[in-house]
Amino acid sequence: MKIIYMDHNATTPLDAEILEAMMPYLTNKFGNPSSSTHAYGWEARRAVDEARSQVAELIGAHPEEIVFTSGATEADNLAIKGVAHAYRDRGNHIITSQIEHKAVLETCKFLEKEGFKVTYLPVDRYGMVDPEKVRGTITDRTILISIMFVNSEVGTIEPVEKIGEIAREKGVLFHSDAVQGAGKIETKVDKLKTDLLAISGHKMYGPKGIGALYLKKGVKIEPLLHGGGHERGLRAGTENVPGIVGLGKACQKAGRVMDEEAERLTKLRNRLYQGIMNRIKRVYLNGHPEKRLPGNLNLSFEFVEGESLILSVKNFAISSGSACTSSSLESSYVLLAMQVPEALSHCSLRICLGRSNTEEEVDYLIEELSKNVARLREMSPLYKEV
Ligand SMILES: *Cc1c(COP(=O)(O)O)cnc(C)c1O
Repeated sequence: MKIIYMDHNATTPLDAEILEAMMPYLTNKFGNPSSSTHAYGWEARRAVDEARSQVAELIGAHPEEIVFTSGATEADNLAIKGVAHAYRDRGNHIITSQIEHKAVLETCKFLEKEGFKVTYLPVDRYGMVDPEKVRGTITDRTILISIMFVNSEVGTIEPVEKIGEIAREKGVLFHSDAVQGAGKIETKVDKLKTDLLAISGHKMYGPKGIGALYLKKGVKIEPLLHGGGHERGLRAGTENVPGIVGLGKACQKAGRVMDEEAERLTKLRNRLYQGIMNRIKRVYLNGHPEKRLPGNLNLSFEFVEGESLILSVKNFAISSGSACTSSSLESSYVLLAMQVPEALSHCSLRICLGRSNTEEEVDYLIEELSKNVARLREMSPLYKEV
């Protein structure tokens, strides 16, 4: 029995076309881009350059503004620590939100140990950051604002454009973790008004272990790694050429199919949502009803343990809360920040549809969920009382 994959916010499968583009660089085109004296090196350098242009094109940047990293975790670290350490003489205050990915939250926590002050802004019940709260928190010591573009758990699209406007007006640098937006919805750095922006290969049908940081021309950062001066001295280490080629191709393909796919996934997601709401009572949507990622649905099923529900629909790969926290029984910190009541945050499912999913699969999931929610509720003493 094939398990139907509906966890595309955690990772995506590697697209066959992308693997094909990578293959030569895993085999006979093995040169080091830094080898400038022979054709093996030139060939690898050309491949890296081409990929850099492809990444830049997807986000509306210049190729020189792209720094390849080992993924978005590193890109977020490089952005936040990099700015903090480069602009330390200007101030020590950073603004972020309570619902960021751990790659941002833990980096900020680490900087607090070095004496930086961090404001973790709350969100409303839809998981939305209020730009006016950002404005109100800026002081003359603020050096960086870091707010994600799309939340990976609840799919809410943040008002990044407005926050970027405020940051510019106040002369504060603005970083956005755009991992969940890039390649799925339009993600253009000039429109979003970001100075730094992080993306990841494996969230957009590319390989794992590769990502990129957009660094606007003129913005200084202190590198994390020191060594051979790769990536204009900002990220030392021999380039992951196959990974970089894969990320470039992933960006190119995403740019090509994005609009059509976003429309298809929105329809599919709405079909799933309507189907569930028609068949099952006491289900609550987490995240913004309209301003959300096309394929994402995050639902709380009252009187059902999320873990038991997931186990009962075992033909589907879906997650409860965030992929990083689902091994513990703690409620998701994102749902807690949204003030979702504890009883509902424990019974949430995150379903993320992607390129491979079909109407038949969605209908099958609706069927399985309604059957199993009914069965599990029959066993719940709390449910019998109502
Ligand atoms: C997956 C993810 C990351 C981490 O990306 P990696 O490339 O796996 O390090 C960071 N931020 C968000 C929002 C993510 O979804």
